[in-house]
Amino acid sequence: MFPLSPLKACLLSSAFLLATTTFPGAVVHANAGSHDDNPQPDLAQEPISNFLPQQGQDEIIGITTADDHSNCRCTPSDTCWPSPSDWSLFDQTVKGRLIATVPLAAVCYPDNDLYDSAKCAQLREDWHLTATHYRDSASVMNQFFARGPDGSGCNAFVDSSSASSEFGPVEVDIEVEAAAPLSEKGKNKNRAKARCSLGANVVYSVNASSPTDFVHTMAFAHQNNIRLVIRNTGHDYLGKSTGFGALALWTHHMKDIEFLDFDNTHDAEQHGSVAYKGKAARLGAGVQVSDAFAAAKAQGLVLHGGNCKSVGVVGGYTQGGGHSVLSSAFGLGADQVLEWEVVIPPSPGTAHPEPRLVTATPFNEHEDLYWALSGGGGGTFGAVVSVTVKAVEDFETAGATLMFSAAGLEDRKTFLKGVQAWLEALPEIVDLGAGAIWFLLKDVLAVSPVMAPRVKARELEEAFKPVLEKLDGLGIPYASSFTDFPSFHDAVAAMVAQLNVTDANMGGRLIPRSSVTEKEGAEKLTDALDAIISADGIVSGISVNIERGQKLSKAYPNSVNPLLESAIHIGVFGFPYNHLDFAANIEAQEKITNVFGAALEKLTPGGGAYLNEGDPHQPDWQTTFYGENYERLLVIKNKYDPEGLLYALTAVGSEQWVEKEDGRLCRA
Ligand SMILES: Cc1cc2nc3c(=O)[nH]c(=O)nc-3n(C[C@H](O)[C@H](O)[C@H](O)COP(=O)(O)OP(=O)(O)OC[C@H]3O[C@@H](n4cnc5c(N)ncnc54)[C@H](O)[C@@H]3O)c2cc1C
Repeated sequence: MFPLSPLKACLLSSAFLLATTTFPGAVVHANAGSHDDNPQPDLAQEPISNFLPQQGQDEIIGITTADDHSNCRCTPSDTCWPSPSDWSLFDQTVKGRLIATVPLAAVCYPDNDLYDSAKCAQLREDWHLTATHYRDSASVMNQFFARGPDGSGCNAFVDSSSASSEFGPVEVDIEVEAAAPLSEKGKNKNRAKARCSLGANVVYSVNASSPTDFVHTMAFAHQNNIRLVIRNTGHDYLGKSTGFGALALWTHHMKDIEFLDFDNTHDAEQHGSVAYKGKAARLGAGVQVSDAFAAAKAQGLVLHGGNCKSVGVVGGYTQGGGHSVLSSAFGLGADQVLEWEVVIPPSPGTAHPEPRLVTATPFNEHEDLYWALSGGGGGTFGAVVSVTVKAVEDFETAGATLMFSAAGLEDRKTFLKGVQAWLEALPEIVDLGAGAIWFLLKDVLAVSPVMAPRVKARELEEAFKPVLEKLDGLGIPYASSFTDFPSFHDAVAAMVAQLNVTDANMGGRLIPRSSVTEKEGAEKLTDALDAIISADGIVSGISVNIERGQKLSKAYPNSVNPLLESAIHIGVFGFPYNHLDFAANIEAQEKITNVFGAALEKLTPGGGAYLNEGDPHQPDWQTTFYGENYERLLVIKNKYDPEGLLYALTAVGSEQWVEKEDGRLCRA
């Protein structure tokens, strides 16, 4: 058998790790692991009144300019930025739910009242936990996008003894009035200047609890020409849930889950369409995978959700497509959607000059919005209040794992032949209905979890036979396991641990089936992947047969990129994020786009990438992320958000805007 402990050490010492991976039977933990309930730094957000800036708003960011910004969203340094009393009134409108951002890392900067070396140490320790960020109203997991103009920001890993060295020529200060209720405004003289800035973190967030909060927030952003972002968990790899000078609509606490006996037979018949009559669940905007799974389990049901338990189901995941180990059996998250409840932006000059709540189904007057929201990307068409999705009865699930390494092999080429054998085996495995998540490091291939709904472990093992036989033939030792679980939830409990923050500069590519079935296809793909891992990158992703799953389960047309649907592997690759050397990240990203990404593109011409797991600098992102759907998506975007209130990097319509060097978002 394969010696596991050296592997474990190898994985643990890897510069960055994407997952905590559980291998039943052949247990290997790919990293130290985490759980959402781990102790958090005591950094609960204070209500707006406690942190309301008391002086000129320009001091928040520290940039003032007399340039003409009439085509830009207002920022705190502009005269068009709402006054403190405007914010205060808005706070009353949203019933005290407005939160002024205090960057988590403020505790790491000695020259401010919040400095606390113990809290800073704890924050650093907890930084890799997704809960550190999704419980906060502003922090995003990809810190590349939290950095503001001229390197402004607030970095938990800064050397506290020289904290100010992090900042460029811009004087960056936050005015913090500690624990002063609004009624005491101005009375508290105990104020201190912090040497960290908001950077590109949102300035304020509304801790939304209802559609009314959505409407008020959208209306306020629109009336005041402020950049608006929708923030759920802050997981987005492309920084779509933050923005310089922005107001965030924060949905995290909208956790309602309701199970329904759904029946749209009447509407479907009228439209000559397939009806869905069965179990369903209505999920509030803040429901995360762990919430959805726990609630479904209690009902003996299964809901679609990704491999990371802290990702939000309703936000970027389902709206962006949403793959999972269930995708070969049931299609994508977006394929499960029955209807969306969504607040859409105002359309001035029409009958709807204010934001309003609508329901979008495959059959009603917002059928186009239903289509766009189901796959066309989060933060683009409206702010989703809830989604109703299909639920299925829980099912027996087969699980599998496989791991091998180059350790002990005479020749690294042999290891790569093993990788190639794995790629060649994928069609048989995914055609059985399995979804397989795997990680490839320089000397290790770790496949886990593989799950196959309504399949027996012996059938799954049979599908693995070709790769196992090849590994035997190559003399590569491996660890594998094949397990029957009585239910999907048992499989999840045994095989899926909470993932950590992906501290990486990332790129992605959809690998078409032909890349592993055509002659020499898998060999060429192995070479391209080897180029990445040889440069100390990591390759990961999920192998699936989405079209198989959709045939069995997809009822209504949606805007998921057809290239995603036909891919056999939704690939990501990346290099560690460097918290202290920003230039190193730029260098890594340059390589991702122009070297490794370009090589994968050459190998898969006309191919695409998954919009949620792609390169933020992807050239020709419209076609790559959205495929043939882009044109129609843009028409729908312009119809429902004619003034472009919702902007996110690489989101539909975002080419109409440009982020300037000073951080401003301006019309292109
Ligand atoms: C560790 C990790 C594991 C992952 N695993 C998977 C996986 O298994 N399968 C998969 O498909 N993807 C996976 N992803 C990608 C994930 O789907 C995206 O990062 C997704 O954008 C996260 O959505 P969120 O709402 O949780 O995050 P956020 O960063 O809060 O939001 C993401 C986007 O959705 C928008 N949004 C959020 N809520 C709403 C709303 N209510 N209405 C409208 N727009 C909204 C935001 O504006 C933003 O544009 C993973 C990501 C990470 C970091």
